Amino acid sequence: MSSTTAGQVIRCKAAVAWEAGKPLVMEEVEVAPPQKDEVRIKILFTSLCHTDIYFWEAKGQTPVFPRILGHEAGGIVESVGEGVTDLAPGDHVLPVFTGECKECAHCKSEESNMCDLLRINTDRGVMLNDGKSRFSINGQPILHFVGTSTFSEYTVVHVGCVAKINPLAPLDKVCVLSCGISTGLGSTLNVAKPKKGSTVAVFGLGAVGLAAAEGARIAGASRIIGVDLNPNRFESAKKFGVTEFVNPKDHNKPVQEVIVEMTNGGVDRSIECTGHVDAMISAFECVHDGWGVAVLVGVPHKDAVFKTSPMNLLSERTLKGSFFGNYKPRSDLPSVVEKYMNKELELEKFITHEVPFAEINKAFDLMLKGEGLRCIIRM
Ligand code: NAD
Ligand code: ZN
Repeated sequence: MSSTTAGQVIRCKAAVAWEAGKPLVMEEVEVAPPQKDEVRIKILFTSLCHTDIYFWEAKGQTPVFPRILGHEAGGIVESVGEGVTDLAPGDHVLPVFTGECKECAHCKSEESNMCDLLRINTDRGVMLNDGKSRFSINGQPILHFVGTSTFSEYTVVHVGCVAKINPLAPLDKVCVLSCGISTGLGSTLNVAKPKKGSTVAVFGLGAVGLAAAEGARIAGASRIIGVDLNPNRFESAKKFGVTEFVNPKDHNKPVQEVIVEMTNGGVDRSIECTGHVDAMISAFECVHDGWGVAVLVGVPHKDAVFKTSPMNLLSERTLKGSFFGNYKPRSDLPSVVEKYMNKELELEKFITHEVPFAEINKAFDLMLKGEGLRCIIRM
């Protein structure tokens, strides 16, 4: 396959977002060959995440259209561009919305995954090498999305945004590790780092929060307290080892006070996965003094301000934030896939729906209705 298509334009199906909020349209697109430091990938499975919805609706976001959305996926390298030495046709890969150039100060730091060159950029619809798109329809460029554009049978991605994984890993499962699940999991395992037997609160029981709870389960937490305003989330959360539930609406005092009482002084760790600043403040104020650590993961409204008394910090509580679970995409994702292969990490419970590519708009409907966690789209 690769020998016949390498260096050629590939014509294939892609779901194009022509306008904000309008159903995607299945089109035949032309995908140009990968240039320097780029890889062309045959996508086999992709899944839908809220971030695709935000940029499709483009409310309060820069509208960038026509565009090919999609950023959670698994596929196989079809061909590589000049200078690509660590990937070859046939490699199984996960494309990632943020990258790892391996050369900048962030990539060289053990502590950071915020690569200077390839950090997420939601407004750019073109490739870095020449400032152009690799997708077109009859000569009209169709723009990229966060460097991945996985709602296409073939896509072109910067090599720094591609994680090479175990070829035995089932791509229809591990594709969900490209974004939301790794974000929640890593926020617990890499940033909050709960000790065995500890008590962990998770605010927001969407896919990200449930992945944070899965991290707490893996770390051996003995109590996992799920906090959500939507009681429908509690039933599904039981499968994720969440042992207790708190709905802030059921109490007439701040939820942090409720949790401090339930836990005799506060939780050891808390992870906020809602995107709402009031939940962020509660998540911080419910950790135990002396050792408690809170990790913020949700993306807040751009004008939101986090307010708390500095005394809460002076009494030895720690506040942290996390981007993509602090995972470096190329260096660390292969080991997250291995956690699934070793049966340490359970992914099946995140996958609630599956549709063929032609029915991708159904996946949007499900997410808009708040049904399920992840819908796999089979190309
Ligand atoms: P989701 O909408 O499926 O889940 C959020 C949950 O939070 C919902 O169940 C909602 O009812 C609940 N909630 C809202 N306000 C609340 C409050 N005040 N108190 C308690 N619960 C509340 O979202 P998701 O896909 O799981 O994503 C969660 C967040 O993570 C989003 O803000 C998303 O943008 C963010 N995110 C961050 C990163 C990162 O790298 N930091 C990566 C991906 C996603
Ligand atoms: Zn870098």
